[in-house]
Amino acid sequence: MRRHHFCLYFLAFSLAIAGLTQQYTSDDTQVISRVHTNQKVVALTIDDGPHNKVTPDILTILREKNVKVTFFVLGTNAKDFPGIVAQEVADNHEIGVHTYSHASLPNLSRQKVDEEFNKAEEVIQSIAPKPNLFRPPGGAYNQQIIEAARQKGYTVILWSVDPKDWSCPPAEKVVDRVLNAVQPGSIILLHDGQYPIPTPKALGTIIDRLRERGFEFVTVSELLQYNETRSSLNLFNKRELVQ
Ligand SMILES: [Zn+2]
Repeated sequence: MRRHHFCLYFLAFSLAIAGLTQQYTSDDTQVISRVHTNQKVVALTIDDGPHNKVTPDILTILREKNVKVTFFVLGTNAKDFPGIVAQEVADNHEIGVHTYSHASLPNLSRQKVDEEFNKAEEVIQSIAPKPNLFRPPGGAYNQQIIEAARQKGYTVILWSVDPKDWSCPPAEKVVDRVLNAVQPGSIILLHDGQYPIPTPKALGTIIDRLRERGFEFVTVSELLQYNETRSSLNLFNKRELVQ
C-alpha cells in the first residue's frame, strides 16, 4: 500500500514536471520571453490595468521621462476606464491584450478561451489600434492557447525580468530586482492593476538607473523589430567586410 502511494506520488510529481516543462520551455517560435541582442535595449511592460489611481501616475512619470512602454490591458478594466486607455494611446504607448477577465486560460475550454480574446478585442479596438501582442495571465499557456492566439494574429509575449511588484515589496526592492536581473533584450514585467502597489514609486528610479547604465527603452514591438534589424545589419556589415 505504501509502495502504491509512493508510485502515485511519483506519477503526480512526474506529471507536474512535464507540465512545467511544457508550460515554461521558452521556444522562440512559440512565445517570446526576451530578445537576443547585444544592444542595450529593454522593454517595460505593464499588466492588468488600466487602474484609475495607479495608471495616471505611471503615465505622468513615463511622460516626464519620455519613455514608451507596452501596456497589456484587461478588457474588463479598459471597459471601466476607456479614457485612460485612450491616454495611453495618445502618449504613443503600445497596447497589448491580457484577456478580458484575467482568467487562467489553461483551465478553460477552447470556446471560453476564444471568448476571452473576442471580448477583450471588442473593448480595446474601440479605443486603440488593433493589438497584435498577447500576454497570458500568470504566463500560463498550453498549445491550445498558443494556437488560439496565433489564429487571431497575436505574438505571445512573456517576460525575462520579474520584480514581483504585485506582491507589494518596498519600492527599493522592486528597483534592485530589476537592476540585478536586467540584460540587453530583457522584457521587464510590472503591474498597474491594483492599489496600493510600489510600481509608480519604483518606475522613475528604474528608468534613471538603467539609463545611467546605457540602456534605452522601447516598446515590445520595437524590441522585436530591433532584433531583426540588428541581425540583418550585422550580416550586411559582415558581407561588406568580406568584400
Ligand atoms: Zn496579469
